[in-house]
Amino acid sequence: MLQVGIIGLPNVGKSTLFNALTSSSAPAENYPFCTVDTNVGTVEVPDDRLERIRQLTSSPKAVPTVIQFVDIAGLVQGASEGEGLGNRFLGHIREVDALGHLLRCFEDTDVTHVMGDVDPVRDMEVVETELALADLETLDRRREKVVKQARTGEKPAIQELALLDRFTELLSRGEPLRTLDMEDGETALVRELGLLTAKPVLYLVNVGEGEEGREGPGLRALEARGVGKGRREGRVDISSALEAELTLLDEEERREFMQELGLGASGLDQAIQGAYRLLDLITFFTSNEKETRAWTIRRGTKAPEAAGVIHTDFERGFIRAETIGFDEFDSLGGLKAAREKGSIRSEGKDYEVQDGDFILFRFNV
Ligand code: GDP
Repeated sequence: MLQVGIIGLPNVGKSTLFNALTSSSAPAENYPFCTVDTNVGTVEVPDDRLERIRQLTSSPKAVPTVIQFVDIAGLVQGASEGEGLGNRFLGHIREVDALGHLLRCFEDTDVTHVMGDVDPVRDMEVVETELALADLETLDRRREKVVKQARTGEKPAIQELALLDRFTELLSRGEPLRTLDMEDGETALVRELGLLTAKPVLYLVNVGEGEEGREGPGLRALEARGVGKGRREGRVDISSALEAELTLLDEEERREFMQELGLGASGLDQAIQGAYRLLDLITFFTSNEKETRAWTIRRGTKAPEAAGVIHTDFERGFIRAETIGFDEFDSLGGLKAAREKGSIRSEGKDYEVQDGDFILFRFNV
């Protein structure tokens, strides 16, 4: 399952946001396959198409797809020097697929700022410097090993050395590795080494509940720097405190309150969808007499691998995928009509699953 790690300096509102995210979504018991951990929250991905497909297939239940958020507390200046806890936190970051980097714009004299004052651009640099330093150290250690093999003329080692140097050079110029346009071999090395700055980043800007955060100097500075506009970056403005309040209301009250504040989707939904886009994820649907389900895959996934997300047997015994795109399915109004019109396509093992595909897998085990 895909994981987004929430990082940021202490007292920027991470736990508040994490609690809002997890308490507003389905309880973990709906997902027995998920590890239960106080720092890991399983969150449903909102998608209107799911309910429509449930109706079209007369299925009794709709089960959304989920992603996980991980509350990674404790990142402070000096973490990369490996002082006790610092390294362990970096270890947690290594395991997630993307980072949700929370930046504090809200002013509140009751909430101390570890760096003395509110300055989100500086905070961002502090955290990203720690990540970059940790990566440089990882690269250095690897280099020591590979250099010896390269001296004996081993070709793969020579190639790897060139890559390590390229990564190091980029980081030394202050550029995160996510800005690189990588080839397959490079991606494999990045994964093997667990390089932190290669992960996509969704900047979550905690603007606070008042006007001052949304229009204040902090946000302007972030905008001037183009934070969230870079390669494999995104940005969502959010208020941790407000989101926490929203979770205390029932659905009706929440809608009214949001309307009053002029909010469209809740910040949480935006954060979830932002992470989804950033990771280049798409959704496909299945349905049977028990339930209609949404499933998450990366764009570009072939049909057998998509089947494997449901069950490994589906992948092993894959024969074909009978499929129709959501829009067509929706306008035809049901399976019967779709079959009669011959709109259900039969796709083989090279088929690249598309966002919104409704799929019936044929398999044999
Ligand atoms: P963490 O250390 O980053 O996990 O931060 P917490 O979520 O524990 O929040 C630190 C303090 O800031 C708590 O007292 C929160 O109530 C407060 N806080 C969090 N988000 C907001 C916000 O949007 N506005 C205001 N005014 N306070 C907030």
